Amino acid sequence: MVDQVPKTSRGWILTGGLVAAILLILAKLIYLQVFQYKYYFQMSEENRIRVLPRSAMRGKIVDREGRLLASDRPAYTVSIIPSEVSKIDYLAGELAPLLEMDEKAIVRKVADRRTRKYEPVAIRRDLSFPAVCIIEESSELFPGVVYQLDQTRTYYYGKSLCHLIGYTGEVDEREAKDQQFRTGSIIGRAGVERQYDQSLRGIDGVDYLEVSATGRIIGPLEDRPSKDPLMGDELALTIDMDLQMAADSCFGDTLSGAAIFLDPKTGEILALVSKPTFDPNLFAGFVSRSEYQSLAGDERLPLFDRTIRGTYPPGSTAKILTAGAALEEGLITTETHFGPCRGGMQFGNRFFKCWDKRGHGSLGLLAALEQSCDVYFYQLGLKLGLEKWSKYARACGFDQTTGLDIPGEKIGHAPDEKWYEKTYGKYNWNKSVMLNLGIGQGEFLVTPIELAQFYAGVVNHGVVMKPHVIRYLRTPKGETNYYHAEIARGLPFSEETLEILKEGLYRVVQSGTAVRSRIPEVTMGGKTGTAQNPHGEDHSWFVGYAPALDPQILGCVIVENAGHGSTVAAPFVKAVFVKFFQKKGIIKMPPPPLLPLVSAGNGVNSAAN
Ligand SMILES: [Zn+2]
Repeated sequence: MVDQVPKTSRGWILTGGLVAAILLILAKLIYLQVFQYKYYFQMSEENRIRVLPRSAMRGKIVDREGRLLASDRPAYTVSIIPSEVSKIDYLAGELAPLLEMDEKAIVRKVADRRTRKYEPVAIRRDLSFPAVCIIEESSELFPGVVYQLDQTRTYYYGKSLCHLIGYTGEVDEREAKDQQFRTGSIIGRAGVERQYDQSLRGIDGVDYLEVSATGRIIGPLEDRPSKDPLMGDELALTIDMDLQMAADSCFGDTLSGAAIFLDPKTGEILALVSKPTFDPNLFAGFVSRSEYQSLAGDERLPLFDRTIRGTYPPGSTAKILTAGAALEEGLITTETHFGPCRGGMQFGNRFFKCWDKRGHGSLGLLAALEQSCDVYFYQLGLKLGLEKWSKYARACGFDQTTGLDIPGEKIGHAPDEKWYEKTYGKYNWNKSVMLNLGIGQGEFLVTPIELAQFYAGVVNHGVVMKPHVIRYLRTPKGETNYYHAEIARGLPFSEETLEILKEGLYRVVQSGTAVRSRIPEVTMGGKTGTAQNPHGEDHSWFVGYAPALDPQILGCVIVENAGHGSTVAAPFVKAVFVKFFQKKGIIKMPPPPLLPLVSAGNGVNSAAN
């Protein structure tokens, strides 16, 4: 057989080389046409399309009587599209005076956007109309700058609700990566704005616009219809603004502390105040770095929500816990008397003082609560012992959050033997710690909301409700979902024990340490507290409720560095209770102030003369 195939190696190389070259070209073509198609298509699309997100209107927030607390109002937002700007420093210089912003802040905002350069970066929200007109009229001076009718969050009661409602902020690049949000869109950052963000936020829409090579908008894109944004849900709170304002105004501008008013039967929060405050409207437009730093660096800590994050020794308000535990354990009856109070008592080599150095003599439980005698409770604490005390403190909820629907709640501290051993070593502490714990001092710390919840359980037959500020959520279509009250836990106290505790609390206001805060029209119960504070003046506490037999409202107030509970915190609670029962018609409103006489200069009355 004759073989026809060329045998020279040269021929083989030539053929092989040709085939390889053809294959290479083919591969490159396939790569460009198929794999890179999306990329090039996007490039050409982006030259003629501008994608402008349209933010959804955030749902409004109202109080329990429908009063508007927060809503979005129309406002202009100016943005920069990074891909359309060649000299950002120059542009920032031109824009800065118009936007009343720092040049560097503009550059930084654009630089922060490392990816998605074709999406607008919001630079300044809530811009004045004249400034918008200037941008519109000289658009060639501001390449890549766009403005949109958007919205800005407005808080109508500003400072008086700042911690409770919180505020919103822009999603940054890092957050956008982790979550489904768009960079620059608005989310709730604190308070109920954050807690209920999902419902309040709504769903953003989008506009597709055709633009010329110079950036002029030609019109909406025909083949891609715009999507309208969907408004967020309305959030109704359980807050009563009349009570909120009354509680807030007690503190004035100088005092720091917290005030909580709630319905002990349902856990509905009626007022929630942390002082000092800040204006949440600052965060709604834009907040400059220096403004934020001055807030964050303020030594009075206005950003700190004391109602849920402040931990304080409860002082004498904790005597109810010591008494309840001892009664429940059968260690005392109301008739049990201890050694008499002579202004204090000696224990080991230390003299433990009573708040009243004149001494209270020998008292039973009810009188000891009424007079808040420390010497009685030093002895009761010792009798109870640390193991039982910590067991009851924990069962009463002092080692857990209350479940309030505001993010960031902290837990106080109810120490036990293990904790002391770990902290001080096995032999470096002794049972004298119970003297302090029994009167709410030492290592025992509570948050105001924990203490309020505990007392609400005491006056609600031992049933502890979950505190909450949400009343309902309502969709734009009008479907309303009411929140249903939830039981958090039961107190470890029998009905008999609770009756004795409530009798003691009633006497505190009737004839004891809080007698000056009595309200003639309404019976009241409560407990004062004066918590020693190693950093300065004592903290002033009062927890009260009314009417004593069927409580409709409970108030828990702490005023930092203000001295005795009876002289500062108790009158605050009284002031809010008066407002509450005035609204119910139980306390008569004072007559309106007399109008000043105006001289009749209009001649109306002249006919009578
Ligand atoms: Zn005493």
